[in-house]
Amino acid sequence: MTTAFISHADCGRHDTGWNHPEHVGRIRAVLRGVGRDPELFMALDHREGRHATPDELVLAHDVRYVERVRAAAAKGGERLDADTVASEGSWDAATAGVGSVLDGVDLALSDVAVRSFCAVRPPGHHALYESAMGFCLFGNVAVAAHYARKIKRLDRVLIVDWDVHHGNGTQSLVEHDRNIRFVSMHQWPWYPGTGARDDRGPHGNVWNLPMAPALERDVYVSALLGAVDEATRDFTPDLVLISAGFDSMAGDPLGGFTLEIDDFSRLTRELVSRAEQWCGGRVVSALEGGYAPDRLGEVSVAHLKALL
Ligand SMILES: [Zn+2]
Repeated sequence: MTTAFISHADCGRHDTGWNHPEHVGRIRAVLRGVGRDPELFMALDHREGRHATPDELVLAHDVRYVERVRAAAAKGGERLDADTVASEGSWDAATAGVGSVLDGVDLALSDVAVRSFCAVRPPGHHALYESAMGFCLFGNVAVAAHYARKIKRLDRVLIVDWDVHHGNGTQSLVEHDRNIRFVSMHQWPWYPGTGARDDRGPHGNVWNLPMAPALERDVYVSALLGAVDEATRDFTPDLVLISAGFDSMAGDPLGGFTLEIDDFSRLTRELVSRAEQWCGGRVVSALEGGYAPDRLGEVSVAHLKALL
């Protein structure tokens, strides 16, 4: 069994411009980080993901919105939200982002690679049912959760989101399925303003952890693991999905958390060891935020080593 490292060349075709924090250099930094570590590079199963189909996107999105994104790219680009643009390559990038995570699910279930890290962009956890939001076009992880449930017939899916921003899109796309549980730790008050502690979703399957910035690192790690344990007390996941946003790392320009690379290693190892108990170790992790490219490369390497 190995760990897959999944990406797609088309993820670089979502052109936001270099002045935008979510630029193509982020993925390049991840690839560079992995390439600089020969031992890690050799240990991974390198894969190019596939493009998700419109039928797969509508597992979580409105068919008219899916068509709107395709049309926006086809006409050369369009602004979709105050801080989210589509360029000519964005349809190919966004469908490759989702498809790469779906490939991660397929690999995990076929036991080819029980774990994977999908280095994808645009990110996904703010995307809503019928609109783009906060740099995100489609809910990469939310589509994967519904794909695992409805297409792959898994009973229970756990999503853990450690991006510094609340995964409001993911929550809204999965909270109606009682067999998907969503744990999100995020800075508060902060963009996008949702994710209060008492917002548990309509079925109580959501655990939101709003946290102040600049706390001791351990406080964040303990809070997230505690919430994961609470969410799984009476729920044994068949698959763990991670929304791996590394903007919760110290020094990120878009967040005020204090986590260091070692903390992400520890969080990853703790989730892997729980997944070993629950479901043969199946963990599919997908990149969300993380806006200091050099640090993003380093932490992705640490995350991959912990998945291995
Ligand atoms: Zn974020």
